[in-house]
Amino acid sequence: MEERRVVGWAARDSTAILFPYSFTIRNTGPEDVTFKVLYCGMDHTDLHQIRNEIHMTNYPLVPGHEVVGEVVEVGVSVNKFKVGDLVGVGGIIGSCGDCSSCKSSMEQYCKDRIMTYNGVDKDGKPTQGGFSSAMVVHQKYVVRIPGKLAPEQAAPLLCAGVTAYGPMKQFIQSGKAVVNAGILGLGGVGHLGIMIAKAMGHHVTVISSSDKKRVEALEHLGADAFLISSNAEEMARAADSLDYILDTVPAVHPLESYIQLLKVNGKVLMVGVSPKPLQFDSDALILGKKSITGSLMGSIEETQELLEFWVEKGLKSRIEIVKMDYANEAFERMERNDVRYRFVIDVAGSNLN
Ligand code: NAP
Ligand code: ZN
Repeated sequence: MEERRVVGWAARDSTAILFPYSFTIRNTGPEDVTFKVLYCGMDHTDLHQIRNEIHMTNYPLVPGHEVVGEVVEVGVSVNKFKVGDLVGVGGIIGSCGDCSSCKSSMEQYCKDRIMTYNGVDKDGKPTQGGFSSAMVVHQKYVVRIPGKLAPEQAAPLLCAGVTAYGPMKQFIQSGKAVVNAGILGLGGVGHLGIMIAKAMGHHVTVISSSDKKRVEALEHLGADAFLISSNAEEMARAADSLDYILDTVPAVHPLESYIQLLKVNGKVLMVGVSPKPLQFDSDALILGKKSITGSLMGSIEETQELLEFWVEKGLKSRIEIVKMDYANEAFERMERNDVRYRFVIDVAGSNLN
């Protein structure tokens, strides 16, 4: 049987301009779910990747790893999903299933994980992401979109949301002292981070590079406090006040001024990807038993958990819905820090075929 032909938008080289691109995906295997893509979020990692800023991009590359779709076909052994279901796929579509990470529901740390795009699938073909008309994914890496959640709203949760939720979960209130959270960088991940931290009961301080987002952060997103990172006086006054900082900055940035905001034992939860190495002064950590930890998205189980948590808490992400032919401009705006707070592509409404 012939493979399924799909149309996506791909970057051909590090100029990172997306063009329409026709390619094939495998037929539905026994454990596969094939779905028509409805919406796909635009993450800053997509921009790092199409520009080869992480130095491992294979072109042509179809980005997109916050994918929501409607199931059009399931394999004979699929029992979790049926035709017509709304489903989601995040940053990974495969792993070995056998290593300690896989066995402890942390498959995103599997050394053989298959990334949703710019990876190599088990059939040897390059993986391509959600800026395309359809995808086929093993059922294990597919989540269910709850009925009460609009598909476009669900998209940013599949990577950005779970990237905040995963590492923040360790601070879910024990019922004793208030947890003081810091969100560094108010973009796609950051805005969801504020809402999730508030829903966990944390006191939330946003640390932003300018004053531009103050009103929205405090009045619409629910943050409790707002600091401008370049204001040394304000930053010094807030020293020793935070239990953790979710660092979402996608660029080289000095760490000392943020580490000083942490209490003794405080943690920087590093999720922003810096294209060049970061530096910090070891004393800044040693003298306060502080730590810097990294985190990659969340597991499939945590992604499903976040979707349910989101609905239960009645949260709503701030998105700007665009068509596929706006993707290049949207990436330019993301680069200029001009998005409130996540672009979501209306893929099904973009007439790709
Ligand atoms: P985004 O929407 O572009 O937001 C990043 C925010 O960081 C901006 O809104 C801005 O906030 C701040 N910022 C941007 N450039 C800066 C600079 N040069 N110096 C200081 N602050 C700056 O990006 P995103 O989609 O949220 O992604 C953020 C980062 O997380 C990216 O590096 C992405 O690759 C990474 N990421 C990692 C994971 C993971 O699993 N670890 C998952 C998703 C994304 P202010 O205006 O408030 O300063
Ligand atoms: Zn594994």
